[in-house]
Amino acid sequence: MSSASAPVLVERVARVRKAMAEAGIDVLLLSVGPDLPYLTGYHAMPLERLTMLVLPREGDATLVVPRLEAPRVVEVPEVFELRPWNETENPVSLVAQLAGRPSVAAIGDHTWSRFLVDLLGELPGAAWRRATEVMGPLRMRKDAAEIQALRTAAAAADRVARQLQGGAVPLAGRTEAEVSADISARLLAEGHDKVNFAIVAVGPNAASPHHHAGAAVINPGDVVLCDFGGTLDGYCSDITRCVSLGEPSAEIAEAYEVLFQAQAAGVRAGIVGTPCEEVDAAARDIIEYAGFGEYFIHRTGHGIGMEEHEDPYIVAGNRLPLAPGHAYSVEPGIYVPGRFGLRLEDIVVATEGGPEPLNVVDHGLVIVDA
Ligand code: ZN
Ligand code: ZN
Ligand code: ZN
Repeated sequence: MSSASAPVLVERVARVRKAMAEAGIDVLLLSVGPDLPYLTGYHAMPLERLTMLVLPREGDATLVVPRLEAPRVVEVPEVFELRPWNETENPVSLVAQLAGRPSVAAIGDHTWSRFLVDLLGELPGAAWRRATEVMGPLRMRKDAAEIQALRTAAAAADRVARQLQGGAVPLAGRTEAEVSADISARLLAEGHDKVNFAIVAVGPNAASPHHHAGAAVINPGDVVLCDFGGTLDGYCSDITRCVSLGEPSAEIAEAYEVLFQAQAAGVRAGIVGTPCEEVDAAARDIIEYAGFGEYFIHRTGHGIGMEEHEDPYIVAGNRLPLAPGHAYSVEPGIYVPGRFGLRLEDIVVATEGGPEPLNVVDHGLVIVDA
């Protein structure tokens, strides 16, 4: 499931320990969610039984897992010791013992509150912080293996987009839900391990950015917005393309041209050192200048990696400068209620050599005969 090798995991743990020292965190406690596989390669099931990595700033890390899950753990002795717990043991007490007597403990965002509440009682002297403080900046900067995984996922999504643009996905006469199911099957056929979403929105339905594909039937002359992505080898894809069943109206063609220019400007703005909010502004300015500003109702993009949406967010107010290895979407949209909705989305990686778009299929409003 995870492409990280033991040396990569060792290096990540060393980096997180350095960040813990700087932040004054004595122990890191990670349960379900992506932080755990990022450091251990192990994806925990979201069970009522506790799974938790106990990572002290110094000394050995321990992965506490329910005994029945232990066979699924690929042991990485350089990174953690495995400590399966039996049904009659109290795993929270076990974690507290392994944590020692920390002054400051950091806990993963996705940890169930029932375990945190019990831990508060078991570690009465500890101050609590969010693990994201140290994990967020680390996970934001993708290493070479992660960028390769994102490239592979993006290429698989591109192949599905190419099928859509080439007319291989039947559209006319089908419902949005049927096309969504078709796109989902194609994401799997192209190598994804799972589908995360497949938005299909026809005509005015596309004016709702996260429209749920439903019973609306696609007809000749319609414009269809498709935004889909999945997970491949632990990393996510996410792409949006619109297609037109026949020549689009002048109104839509004009709006699409503005969107196309805005998205390209957003991609080009992804120079290392540029604050995230300036990437947002690069795309937004063009849409505003053309008079569609009030119809671009969301941020320009989101970071992507093990999660579909993660840091860094490409949004006004985010002064974080882009750094090599930041991976994020550039997806401006124009949504005119009751009339139409258009969005164009690529995943981009910031590199020393400039922005590297991972999605390269046709960026136009392709006219399809499907
Ligand atoms: Zn979205
Ligand atoms: Zn998307
Ligand atoms: Zn997206």
